[in-house]
Amino acid sequence: MKPLLLAKPGVDLDKLQSNIVYLTDVKVDFDGFVALNIKEFSVHFNELRVVIGPNGAGKTTLCDVISGKTKVTEGRVFFNLRETTDLTDVEIASLGIGRKFQTPTVFDSITVYENMELALPGRRGVFRNLWSNETSDERDRIFSILKRVHLADQAHRQAKYLSHGQRQWLEISMLIVASPKLLLVDEPAAGLTDKETELTAELLLELKGSHTIIVIEHDMDFVRRLNSRVTVLDNGQVLADGTLDVVQKDPAVIEAYLGR
Ligand code: ADP
Ligand code: MG
Repeated sequence: MKPLLLAKPGVDLDKLQSNIVYLTDVKVDFDGFVALNIKEFSVHFNELRVVIGPNGAGKTTLCDVISGKTKVTEGRVFFNLRETTDLTDVEIASLGIGRKFQTPTVFDSITVYENMELALPGRRGVFRNLWSNETSDERDRIFSILKRVHLADQAHRQAKYLSHGQRQWLEISMLIVASPKLLLVDEPAAGLTDKETELTAELLLELKGSHTIIVIEHDMDFVRRLNSRVTVLDNGQVLADGTLDVVQKDPAVIEAYLGR
C-alpha cells in the first residue's frame, strides 16, 4: 500500500497528523441524490465520538465512507495518517477498522467462546482458522472480556441461546478481542432494556482511551451517558458539533429534529 501522500491542496497537515479519521470536502452522490456533503470531519486518536441526527441524515453513509464500503464522489478520506480514498473496504479493514452493525452478526451454531476465537486477530485468514489452537494468553483474554460482559458462564453454549442484549455484548466483545484501532458502532442500544443499555454504555466508556470509537445513536439517554463530543448530521451535512448540552440548545438542531 502507498504511504501517506504529503501536502496536497485542501489537506490540512496539522489536522491530518492529530486525527485518526480526517475527511475533507467529501461528497457522496447516489445517482443525483447527495447523501453526504461534508466540508470537514475529524476524530482524534482514542476519542469517543457520538454521531446523531434524524433518520436519513447520512450517519450510516458517513461510517460507510470511513470503512470504504461506500466510495466518495468527491473529496478525500484519511485514516491513521494514510489516504484511504481509493482503497477497498478489505484493505481499509486491514489497517485497523472494526465495525459493529445494527443487527448482531455472531455465528449461531458455534459457541460464544468459538465466536470469540474467530474474532482473534488473524483468525479469518486461510491458514489460521477455528481449529488452530489459541495460546493461553488469548484464552485468558477471551475469558476476561467475557467475564466483563457477564458471558463467561455462557462461554460453551451455542450463540443461538443468547438474548438480544447478550448477543450485542458478544459482538462488542468480538470487536474488543479483534482490537481494531477504530471501532464503528451503529446504534448499539437499539432494542436493549435500560439495564442492558447501561452496561453497553459502560463498555464503550471503558474502551475509550485505548481505542478510537465512533458511535451512531438515537437514544438520548444513552448519548448522555457517553458524555462525549457529539456531531449532529442533517441532510448529509454537519449541523453542529460539541457537548450534548450545547448542541441540544442549538436552534438549527432543534429545527432539524422538529422538522421531521
Ligand atoms: P442515517 O443512517 O442517518 O439514517 P443513511 O446514511 O442511511 O442515513 O442515508 C442517508 C440518505 O442516503 C437517505 O436518504 C438514504 O435513503 C440515502 N441512501 C443511503 N444509501 C443509499 C444508496 N446506496 N443509494 C441511494 N440512496 C441511498
Ligand atoms: Mg443509519
